[in-house]
Amino acid sequence: MTRTHEQYMEEALEVARTAEEHGDVPVGVIIVKDGQVIARGEARVIVDSDPTAHAETVAIRRAAASLGSPYLAGCTMYDTFECCPMCCGAIMNSGIDTLVLGGRFEGPDRTYGDYSVAALIALTGADRRIELIDGVLKEKSRALFTPEKRNRWLQRMRGESPGWGKRA
Ligand SMILES: [Zn+2]
Repeated sequence: MTRTHEQYMEEALEVARTAEEHGDVPVGVIIVKDGQVIARGEARVIVDSDPTAHAETVAIRRAAASLGSPYLAGCTMYDTFECCPMCCGAIMNSGIDTLVLGGRFEGPDRTYGDYSVAALIALTGADRRIELIDGVLKEKSRALFTPEKRNRWLQRMRGESPGWGKRA
């Protein structure tokens, strides 16, 4: 039986919780092909000391390894939180067909000025190829990932908050 967008997003939210357990931001991704989850990705920036290890890039690498192909045509990404410009670029390069988003920061809590996924994919012409479905379980996603959590995570990442550093 085909699962709904909400059911897949619930699974992505479970992945997000695992990221928070190891000290990263609670953002999670799953990638689905033909109804099957082929990869999960959790934010790993702090735990891996890798500024590019966002949930989206982690999931894309795992999906490509799983398929034995760098091209993810036919795949749908469920992303609990609106991805950053780097990850939006990775999604466009990956060939993913459908992007389903959960929550996002709004107003003064926004991170990247006027950037949005919709604006970047329209700017690059990718909107003619990528289907964007927005706001799935938005409130649950935003309850899990708050601006306060983001700010604490930024401090940890930058080493500004002794005692909050990477766990041994
Ligand atoms: Zn990102």
